[in-house]
Amino acid sequence: MKVTGYELFQVPPRWLFLKIDTDEGIVGWGEPVVEGRAATVKTAVDELMEYLIGKDPLHIEDHWNVMYRAGFYRGGPILMSAISGIDQALWDIKGKYYNAPVHQLLGGKARESIKVYSWIGGDRPADVGEAAKDMVAKGFTAVKMNGTEELQYVDSYEKIDQVLARIAAVREAVGPHVGIGIDFHGRVHKPMAKILAKELEPFRPMFIEEPVLPENNEALRDIANHVAIPIATGERMYSKWDFKKLLTDGYVDIIQPDLSHAGGITECKKIISMAEAFDVAAAPHCPLGPIALASCLQVDATCHNAFIQEQSLGIHYNQGSDLLDYIVDKQVFEYEDGYVKIPNGPGLGIEINEEHVRTMAEVGHNWRNPVWRHKDGSIAEW
Ligand SMILES: [Mg+2]
Repeated sequence: MKVTGYELFQVPPRWLFLKIDTDEGIVGWGEPVVEGRAATVKTAVDELMEYLIGKDPLHIEDHWNVMYRAGFYRGGPILMSAISGIDQALWDIKGKYYNAPVHQLLGGKARESIKVYSWIGGDRPADVGEAAKDMVAKGFTAVKMNGTEELQYVDSYEKIDQVLARIAAVREAVGPHVGIGIDFHGRVHKPMAKILAKELEPFRPMFIEEPVLPENNEALRDIANHVAIPIATGERMYSKWDFKKLLTDGYVDIIQPDLSHAGGITECKKIISMAEAFDVAAAPHCPLGPIALASCLQVDATCHNAFIQEQSLGIHYNQGSDLLDYIVDKQVFEYEDGYVKIPNGPGLGIEINEEHVRTMAEVGHNWRNPVWRHKDGSIAEW
């Protein structure tokens, strides 16, 4: 079998889909995108695909190594997201070729389903109590929300009190046992992260996420020594080498590699297995589309330490187009009692509605994340 061609589709709300064709008529789909830089990743995919045309798509491990190692400069969000989407599409082809789901080719399922959580509250969390109640009514047993708006390096206790009021409203709305993930979104700097983590502890969060930016991960030590809340991070880390120090330092409890940013199925399976050896859990990051989610579920199926999966249905980014719009059989992502079954169809286990993809690629998107500034005019982390 040979790769004969490929197409890229920049589709709303903010995604990029890749379709790889073969001479046997089997096609594979991937989602090579980093949010806000779709066109840049598209160019990186074009450069990488030059090598893959004419190659056997089944030799994924070798192709991954060529894409990663045969470039003198490597790593980072753009190149690794491009590799990720190509890798997903190659696995989709391999599964379809052997008429088996990807998880079967990775060793088989360690679980039949996985818990999912839903986002509430958007960028600037408000009315989160009601939103959390709605999600619990829909069967979710875990939710995630942004903890705070922009925070200065050292900010006021008024803002801390506002965060606490929001989390208190959620806890009161959902009762004592629903999981609440609180995303600091890298918006919080070390001086405030300690305070915020300590103040949040009485609400028994499921985890706090990106309590500081990944480039400041040494600050996790203080937080981990300060509170008993599980610490999650990793959506902005891109390879096993990026995760190496995080794991050996020992202050992380949950890693969140993104299957569309951290080298795809091939690399994320390895990253999550590395974490297993440190007794660290995995909750793959996935605020993206159906191909990214299907890829996550294939890997989750085979990883003992994967305990919950992010998914984007109804997320604040999905304006006008949502998770299920691009797939034929929407039941594949049906959530039951807060769990989703591992897809058992060949390849990634989803069927893409190509006609809809083509229609929406005409619409396209130019999504950018907002630019926030502090009151003094300085740029704020979003
Ligand atoms: Mg996050």
